[in-house]
Amino acid sequence: MKTDVIRMLSFLTITAALSPTLAAAQDNPFFHPYGTPWEVPAFDKIKVEHYMPAFDAGIAEQKKEIEAIRDSKDAPTFENTVAAIETSGELLTRVGDVFFNLNSADTNDEMQAIARDVAPKLSALQDDIYLDPKLFARVKEIYLKRDQLRLSPEQLRLLTEQHKAFIRGGANLSDADKKTFREINERLSVLELKFGENILAEENAYQLVIDNQADLAGLPDNVVEGAAEAATKADLAGKWVFTLHRPSIEPFLTYSEKRDLREKIYRAYCERGNHNDEYDNKEILREEATLREKRAVLLGYKTYAAYVLEDNMAKTPDNVVNLLDQLWTPALSRAASERDAMQAMVNAGGKPFDLASWDWWYYAEKVKKQRYEFDDSVLRPYFVLDNVRKGAFEVATKLFGITFEERFDLPKYNEEVRTFEVKDKDGSHLAVYYVDYHPRPGKRNGAWMSEYRQQCRIGGKDVTPIIVNVANVSRATADEPALLSLDETATLFHEFGHALHGMLSDVTYASLAGTNVARDFVEMPSQVIENWATQPEVLKMYARHYKTGELIPDELIAKMNNAKLFNQGFATVEYLAASYLDMDWHTLTGEVPADVMAFEQQRMDALGLIPEIVPRYRSPYFRHIFAGGYSAGYYSYIWAEVVDADAFQAFKEAGLFDPETAARFRKYILSAGGTDDPMVLYKKFRGREPEIGPLLERRGLTTTDS
Ligand SMILES: [Zn+2]
Repeated sequence: MKTDVIRMLSFLTITAALSPTLAAAQDNPFFHPYGTPWEVPAFDKIKVEHYMPAFDAGIAEQKKEIEAIRDSKDAPTFENTVAAIETSGELLTRVGDVFFNLNSADTNDEMQAIARDVAPKLSALQDDIYLDPKLFARVKEIYLKRDQLRLSPEQLRLLTEQHKAFIRGGANLSDADKKTFREINERLSVLELKFGENILAEENAYQLVIDNQADLAGLPDNVVEGAAEAATKADLAGKWVFTLHRPSIEPFLTYSEKRDLREKIYRAYCERGNHNDEYDNKEILREEATLREKRAVLLGYKTYAAYVLEDNMAKTPDNVVNLLDQLWTPALSRAASERDAMQAMVNAGGKPFDLASWDWWYYAEKVKKQRYEFDDSVLRPYFVLDNVRKGAFEVATKLFGITFEERFDLPKYNEEVRTFEVKDKDGSHLAVYYVDYHPRPGKRNGAWMSEYRQQCRIGGKDVTPIIVNVANVSRATADEPALLSLDETATLFHEFGHALHGMLSDVTYASLAGTNVARDFVEMPSQVIENWATQPEVLKMYARHYKTGELIPDELIAKMNNAKLFNQGFATVEYLAASYLDMDWHTLTGEVPADVMAFEQQRMDALGLIPEIVPRYRSPYFRHIFAGGYSAGYYSYIWAEVVDADAFQAFKEAGLFDPETAARFRKYILSAGGTDDPMVLYKKFRGREPEIGPLLERRGLTTTDS
C-alpha cells in the first residue's frame, strides 16, 4: 500500500492573528483564535455551515491583500512584495487546512458539495494572483536584481520559487491566452474532484455478500470475523461482507479458496469508474488529459509531463522513462518466473487451469509458504497497531531525541483520533501530531500524511506544525486488538516518516516548510524511515505477541527476511506498469485517444506486460494522477527509492542509530524542507549523488532468479 502526501494551497501560509473586520461573524470559529492548546483547530466547535462563509471571507481578504501589494506606491522590495505575497491569505489557509483534511478523512455529502463549490473559486483566486501583470512586474523587478539584494539563502530560494510559480502559472501569457488558461484551470479543478468522488462512491456501494459458510473456505478467523462485523454494520447480520477497501479485499484474494469469488471481487476492483454510468471516469480523464496538454502547450512545453518534470529532480520525461526502462526488463523477467512457479503449483493440483490475475495473491502465498515456510499471517499477532506506533515513536526518539506524549484534552474530529504532543530533546514544544487509523465510509482509501498547520517563523513568531497521519487498517475485534500485516506495518512507518518531515521542519517561510519539496523528493524521507520497521533490532523493540507477550523470535525474523525478495517481480511490475501508464497519458501530443481502455491495453501490450498482472492502478481509478497531485509523477516512488536505498546505506554503514548520521539526516533533509535544491541537500547529507546499486540489490533485480 504505497501512499501519498496530500498537498493543498501550497502557495498560501498561516499565522494566528486575524483581521478585525471579520470578527463580526460571532459564532464562526474560523474568525476567532481557537483558544485551544497551541491553537489546534477547535473541531468540537466547527460545523459544516462554517466553511463556506470562511472560504468566501478568506478569498476576499487575500484578494484585498494582494491588491494592496500590487498597488503599493513604494518601490518593490523583498519584504513588501515577495514576503508579503507569501504571508497573505491566512484566513483562507486556516479554513482550507481544516476543510481539505476532513474532506479526505471524514467527509459527507455536504462537505463534498462545498468542495465542488469552492474548487473553482480557489483556482480562480490562484489565477488572479499569478496572472496579474502589475503584481508579476514587481516580483520580476526584484528577481532581476536578486544578486544585489543581500538575501539569505532561504530568501533567495523563496524569490526564485515564487518567480517560477508566476511563470508556470501563466504570467508571461498574452491576454487571450490568459483567459484560456484560466478556464482550463477552473475546469480541471472540478474534474479532478469529480474523479475522486466517483471512486469513493463506487467503493462505498460495492459489497460482496456471502451467506453460505462454505464460501468462506480458506479465510483466517480474523478475516471472517471482520467480514461478519462489516455485515452487521450493513444490516446483514448473520452474513459476511467483503468490500473493495484494501484491508478487506487483500486478505480475501490471498486466502479465499473460492476461485469464482476471487474473480468476482477482483473484477469489481478493476472495473471501478468503468461502468458507463453516472460514476464512470473515462470521459472525465480524457478531458483532463486534453486540458492538461493544452495548458502545457500554452506555456510553451511540448507535453504536460515536460511541464511537470521541469520542476522536479527528474527534469525531463526521458529521464523518467530511462529509469523505468532500467527496472522493467529485470522486473518483468522475475515476475514471469514467479508466475511459472505458481502455474506449476496449479498444474500439480490435479485440475489444471491457466493462472489468472485474481489467482496471483492466493498462489503467491502458497508458493511462499512452501518455499520459505513462511506465511504473512503468522506475523500479525506480533504487529499490534499500538505497539507498532510506539515502535515508530521509539525509533524517532533514538534517532533524533524527540519524545511523544499522548494528550486527552485536545479537540478531535472523530472519537478514533488520538492526539500527541511532540517535544524536542531539550523538552521544548515541537509539534502536535494526530493519528487516525481505521476505515470509515467518509474516508478515502489508502494512507497519508498531511498538515493542519505548517511550520514557519513569521514576524518573530514561531508557528509550530500540526501534523496528521491517516490510514485504513482493521479495528480491534471482540477477541483481539487491532493487528497489522507486514505491509501495513511498513506503511505506518512510511507515513510516520512523512510526519517527521513535517514535525522537524525548521524554516522561515511556510511554502518551503516540511514536505513542500519536489514531488520526486518528497517520498525519500518517508521511504528512508520505512527501513527501520523491519530491522531485527527494531522488531525486538516493538513486535510482541498480543497473547503471550513474547518477543518476535529470531527464526521468524530470519524467515521473514528470506521471504522478502519473494514476489518482488510482481510488486515492481504492477507499480512500473502504472508509472508508464501515467507517463503515457501525460506525454500525449495532439488528440487524446477516444477509447480509454483500448489505449491502456495497447500501451501495456507494447510493454509486454504479462496478462496475469494488472497495472496497480487502471486509468478510471488512477486517483494519484487524475484526482491527486501525482500526475506525471507516479514514478516518484521508485525515483525516491533509488535515493532512499542509497541514503539508508549510510545508516547501514555507520550504525542504525548512529547519532552523527541521524543529525545530518535531520539537519539537511528533515528540517531543511524546500529551502534548497534537493540534490544539493542530498549531497550535503551523503557527501555525493545517489547511486542505483542499493535499490537493485534490495529488490533482488540484480539477477533474474526467483
Ligand atoms: Zn509517501
